[in-house]
Amino acid sequence: MPVDIQHNVCLKALNTLAMPVKAKSFVAPRNLDELKEIIQHETGPFFILGGGSNCLFAHDIDALVIHPQIFDMRVLEETPQEVLVEFGAGVPWHEAVTYCVKEQFYGIENLALIPGLVGAAPIQNIGAYGVELCDVFHSLDAMDIKTGELVQFNRDACHFGYRDSVFKHEAKGLYCITAVRLCLSKTPALKTRYRTLDEYLQTHHIINPTIDDVFCAVMNIRQSKLPDPKKLANAGSFFKNPIVTREVYETLKEHAQHLPQFSVDQQRVKIPAAWLIEQCGFKGYRLGDAGVHTEQALVIVNHGQASAKDILALSKLIQTQVYERFGLHLEPEVNIPNLETAPGV
Ligand SMILES: Cc1cc2nc3c(=O)[nH]c(=O)nc-3n(C[C@H](O)[C@H](O)[C@H](O)COP(=O)(O)OP(=O)(O)OC[C@H]3O[C@@H](n4cnc5c(N)ncnc54)[C@H](O)[C@@H]3O)c2cc1C
Repeated sequence: MPVDIQHNVCLKALNTLAMPVKAKSFVAPRNLDELKEIIQHETGPFFILGGGSNCLFAHDIDALVIHPQIFDMRVLEETPQEVLVEFGAGVPWHEAVTYCVKEQFYGIENLALIPGLVGAAPIQNIGAYGVELCDVFHSLDAMDIKTGELVQFNRDACHFGYRDSVFKHEAKGLYCITAVRLCLSKTPALKTRYRTLDEYLQTHHIINPTIDDVFCAVMNIRQSKLPDPKKLANAGSFFKNPIVTREVYETLKEHAQHLPQFSVDQQRVKIPAAWLIEQCGFKGYRLGDAGVHTEQALVIVNHGQASAKDILALSKLIQTQVYERFGLHLEPEVNIPNLETAPGV
């Protein structure tokens, strides 16, 4: 059956900031053959779209938007200690987590409820509650969007960093990730040291947590703090947490006594961007229909009719004020395709 390519497609329901942009054309391949056919027979440019939960679309997309719908999920190898599981790029991330928790495969329970699809998880090396994808990542398959050739990337080749990977740099826009393989533990290996998670477990008198306890705890914490994009449009954390040397941190602390930090390594610390934004008085702030969430200052929300211009104006205002007050630059975590030509930039 030929692949169904649609034209002039509104993407409002396919991005969690609910930007009413249009794709010049749109296709949702269900398997590798369909994806290859598109890449080899259609003219680009191509733009790969997952769940749209980490994108701010400032324009209509003058490209063929490819929305991978590859749903395979399978165990590839197993020992009494470990399991190698493969997920197709179109599997919703939370579904992958739910499956692993049900099977008692340890490693990604702390990443419950992160929106989006599996194929996008390596792009920014998703992370939450003390765990990052790279901790359990084995390898991925990606199709070269110029040739249709399938290439494998192992962990080293992905150059994972904090909300970062090779797919945000040298390999940006060159591949469509089609499958991700994770190496998970079959024996209990829980990470519960992250402060909020630890506090939650203690408050609920959970002394020896199971994988289900951690999974439920993470979901409860997230639901109490983060806006559900279906009810209030947002793209999660809008900015990354700045990482500075311990020396810089000590200097900053002279002017901001209570400046919080999380250790990254012996030389560096991470400063919570939410704290910086909150200190500048932005929690709950609104600029038209663009706003800063009332509970989590790192999340910029669309109260209804915000345009990309409104959201970018608010994000710039935040960046400027944080810079003026703390001398720290907040780098967007959200992907903004063609930012250079975005309105108001
Ligand atoms: C409420 C909320 C909470 C969030 N919490 C977290 C969190 O705790 N931790 C965290 O790390 N992130 C979080 N995020 C951000 C987001 O969910 C993740 O970054 C997620 O992995 C994005 O997946 P997606 O499918 O929606 O990607 P999209 O937004 O569709 O795409 C993101 C980028 O990846 C590219 N891309 C997508 N799929 C592919 C593919 N198959 N091949 C190649 N490139 C691709 C796109 O072109 C784009 O550049 C949150 C977002 C929201 C809305």
